[in-house]
Amino acid sequence: MIVAEPTIGRGNVKVGPIPTFSLPSRFSCPGASPWCIKHCYAARFERVWPNCRVAYSRNLVLSWNAPRFVRAMLRCIPRDLPYLRIHVSGDFHSAQYADAWTAIARKRPNTQFFAYTRSWNVASILPALEQLRALGNVHLFASLDPDMPDPTPGWRVAFIGIDPRAAGMRCRHQQEEVESCLECGYCFRKGAGNVVFTVH
Ligand code: SF4
Repeated sequence: MIVAEPTIGRGNVKVGPIPTFSLPSRFSCPGASPWCIKHCYAARFERVWPNCRVAYSRNLVLSWNAPRFVRAMLRCIPRDLPYLRIHVSGDFHSAQYADAWTAIARKRPNTQFFAYTRSWNVASILPALEQLRALGNVHLFASLDPDMPDPTPGWRVAFIGIDPRAAGMRCRHQQEEVESCLECGYCFRKGAGNVVFTVH
């Protein structure tokens, strides 16, 4: 199957009108822990909305060819786009794919990219993610749950509230303090700190 263009989501009730890019859950999640697989909200969402699963699967096929993926994403991301949420569903499935996002973010310095990932726990992908998160316009969190070890020092961490290690800002949308991530902005403010989510 040849996929020419990615599907970009138009935002959702959580992020607000921030565009999103997603992949199918589990198939693209090499760092998924048993806890994560058991509680995966994205898998539940994809069961309810099978069209999303199809679109995410097409995105995954496109992402397997990194140069083509970079070109296609750059066609879809205007130079003045302020924010893009990577992976409402899915994760960085390979070092080549993470490198592709580094190339995209470098070409779009006016866009703030943010993502939460468990792929930091995959040794072959971590170096590429370190390069990606070093960019000034990329905000990458190490997602953590009770089945996972502590991440490499220096990462911002996205905790689950039930984890005894949880420390940081309670997600303001889940606390009903803001309408959306767009209004909040905490997660895409460089170095702002860790975030704590309640289980969906
Ligand atoms: S803390 Fe703010 S920016 Fe981060 S996920 Fe929650 S609402 Fe969005």
